[in-house]
Amino acid sequence: MVTGAPAKMLDRRDELTPMLAQYVDLAEEYDDAVLLFRVGDFYKAFCETADEVARVCELTRIEREDSTGTYTACGIPVDNAAKYLDRLLDAEYRLAVADQVEDPEETNGLVDRAVTQVITPGTVVDDELLATGSNTYVACVARGSTGDAAEVCGDSDGEYGLAHVDVSTGECAATAGSLADVQEELARIAPAELLTGPDVDAGGDDLADSAMTTEYDPTVFEPDAARERLTAYADPERFRPTAATAAGALLAYAEWAQGDDGPLGHVNRVRWYDPRRSLRLDATALRGLELFETHAGGDATLFDTLDETRCALGRRRLRAWLRRPLLDRERVESRHDAVEAFAEQTLVREEVRDLLGEAYDLERLVGRVTRGRADARDLRSLHATLEAVPEIRDALADVPELADLRDSLDALADLRERIDAAIVEDPPTDITDGGVVRDGFDADLDEVRGTAREGREWVANLESAERERTGIDNLDVGYNRVHGYYIEVTNGQLEKVPDDYTRRQTLKNSERFYTPELKRREDEILGADERADRLEYELFTEVRGDVAAEAERIQGLADAVARVDALAALATAAVERNYARPELGAEGVFVEGGRHPVVERTEPEFVPNDTDLPRGTVALVTGPNMSGKSTYMRQVALCVVLAQAGSFVPAQSARLPVVDRVFTRVGASDDIAGGESTFMREMRELTDILHDATADSLVVLDEVGRGTATTDGRAIARAAVEFLHDELGSTALFATHYHDLTELADERERVRNLHFAATREGGDVTFLHRAKPGAAAASYGVEVAELAGVPNPVVERARALVAEEADADAEPADEDPGSDSAQRTLDDLGGAERGRSRGAGTVDLTDAERETLAALREVDVADTTPMEALNRLNGLQRRLEEDV
Ligand code: ADP
Repeated sequence: MVTGAPAKMLDRRDELTPMLAQYVDLAEEYDDAVLLFRVGDFYKAFCETADEVARVCELTRIEREDSTGTYTACGIPVDNAAKYLDRLLDAEYRLAVADQVEDPEETNGLVDRAVTQVITPGTVVDDELLATGSNTYVACVARGSTGDAAEVCGDSDGEYGLAHVDVSTGECAATAGSLADVQEELARIAPAELLTGPDVDAGGDDLADSAMTTEYDPTVFEPDAARERLTAYADPERFRPTAATAAGALLAYAEWAQGDDGPLGHVNRVRWYDPRRSLRLDATALRGLELFETHAGGDATLFDTLDETRCALGRRRLRAWLRRPLLDRERVESRHDAVEAFAEQTLVREEVRDLLGEAYDLERLVGRVTRGRADARDLRSLHATLEAVPEIRDALADVPELADLRDSLDALADLRERIDAAIVEDPPTDITDGGVVRDGFDADLDEVRGTAREGREWVANLESAERERTGIDNLDVGYNRVHGYYIEVTNGQLEKVPDDYTRRQTLKNSERFYTPELKRREDEILGADERADRLEYELFTEVRGDVAAEAERIQGLADAVARVDALAALATAAVERNYARPELGAEGVFVEGGRHPVVERTEPEFVPNDTDLPRGTVALVTGPNMSGKSTYMRQVALCVVLAQAGSFVPAQSARLPVVDRVFTRVGASDDIAGGESTFMREMRELTDILHDATADSLVVLDEVGRGTATTDGRAIARAAVEFLHDELGSTALFATHYHDLTELADERERVRNLHFAATREGGDVTFLHRAKPGAAAASYGVEVAELAGVPNPVVERARALVAEEADADAEPADEDPGSDSAQRTLDDLGGAERGRSRGAGTVDLTDAERETLAALREVDVADTTPMEALNRLNGLQRRLEEDV
């Protein structure tokens, strides 16, 4: 344990110095956090906590000695704390920051300290600790009573409530559903921290994917207490009881982390939402489509590809749109309308985007303002943004399609004027030291400042006046912080000093004096300065309070600015990457010249492909490894997601349905499934899909059933296709290595075949990356071997073996005369057992050819990457060539 009070100090508790005793008390109180204890210019940690802080932050430890013993200590410099706090948060520590809550200069003895803020990975509000373009959420899961469960879900998991909040922006929402719903929703929210109620087992229930889990005071999860808490923010009646519990408990936690000052001022709204009202993407789909994270070596995500936003507000909005594409056709089309208008109006778009470049992060600013943490510079930044708003409105004025957008931008002129009248243009960061408020803003302040100014003028004139009066021509008037104003006379001139001079300080070559009038003026100036500083601070906090009172309007503006930025970004991406506006229609997925938005950017010769999938069609996609199957299938899914998010799509033209869910299972063989066999995971994912897909879903499945024996795998794949087609009626793309599945196209009305082929040019195999109707050649594995230049006898022999095996497979199943002897692939040659039963055949083989065949037999195709396959083929070919 590195959190809590150090054992060594607890042992000597009664002997500790008062300061260390204070440390131990606070460390005990915040025993699940690393206590950072303000001493002078450092946040200190002691004993084992110091060891850990020093390790994580790469700081030096020191030994601190007092009468009670020696303690290891380590300190984080307060002025430069952010980067160290960031490291501790990365290492998943909660941090309790204990500040001095009394002015040390006004206290005799020990300064009182208290924990002013608890920082956890999910409740960070400090700009320096937050990523700008994304949200940092803390989520909370609460479990309903069995009564709720029976009423709502009739489901044995019971009902769960889920709430999330971004404490930096005040965005807060809650929902409720089954365990599976909550898991899916959590994958979308991707919180940095997950708070769990009693009875919720984050690990066992697969809830906290990469989030740190926090168990907090169970009493805040008591339904009545939680509802009570929520009441300060929203009407609990609008929520399912479990959602109200989750939201109330979450807000209790967020308040506590912010120092427990009562309700969070910038959380103006807790939204109730139903995840089913947006296009659902579960964790597997988010991962497989690489929306926000790459895996398996990809270098860009869909988000990166589209992100042409200019400000943090827009960046977070675009992320949210991709995370929750719409289901409502009208809303989708209204986004498309706006994107189209921006795409067509290049000048307007560029002007607006330039202006957006100046937009300050209004959402986080509201957070700081309401917490009383915003400084004068923040207010000036708000002012600068408010100044840009009328210009943005002007730029939008000429485009009728953007009129609604323009109207949503409230320029908050009253607030802008107030800030401008109050705060100087380039204020200092420190708001307690004056220089913040403009002259003319407040009569009292002007008067006090006038007094100080007059006094200073009098002092400024004093030097010449006194030189004249005393005849001391090198007499100086000066000021220092310790002694105040003085008149300095060198030792040689001391006899000329008049009687009204009182000695203040003796230096080596001179003496310093003051006069009663100078003293009086000094008191007046310093008093006025101090009063002015105090007054300025008061005036500043008053103006900040005025801004805080407009939190909702600023949030409304932030929302509108975010929309404008996200739409202009989508238009920019559409123009620069040559996307087309999709037409929406329920008939199916029809794309001309579709491209994969991410792959096309790194693949210089990307081959566009068409898609023709009437609603309810299952397309079986065949072709060798590396021929482009999975890229194609993902591009279709991405087109649908993009369209519903409001974006144009990478295609020449597209007519797309509004789907309820996109299911994907692609590239799972590249996944390192934590602890679970790949096959088990694959089957779980398949279960989810077959359970939940509807006739309005788009299903993209890559190589189902590869992780098990061929016979089983083939059977599972076939049954899945049949189920998709016969029972679910989903529109689907289904890539398979099991070639005999392609027969289904003859048997089922809406099953089609699509294939990707390869050719040989010179000595090289070339993948055309072109989707063509029909199934791939039956034994394309052997064909690829031929294309790669494996000598004829081997290819022929391989073909014969394929045929022979197909026959052998067919024999015991006499009832199945339809089985096509040519439908075997190199996959099947991998079966070592079958290999042993084969005869030598009728072709005369050289040793090298025999070895090649043996090597081919040993290949476990299911466990071979495309690269390994190519290398192996290359090796075999070499071996054969050497033999000639
Ligand atoms: P498969 O799923 O058939 O094994 P992939 O879809 O993974 O094949 O594609 C293999 C590689 O081929 C990709 O990494 C990509 O670089 C390239 N590729 C795929 N589709 C295309 C295309 N339409 N045009 C150009 N290159 C492509």
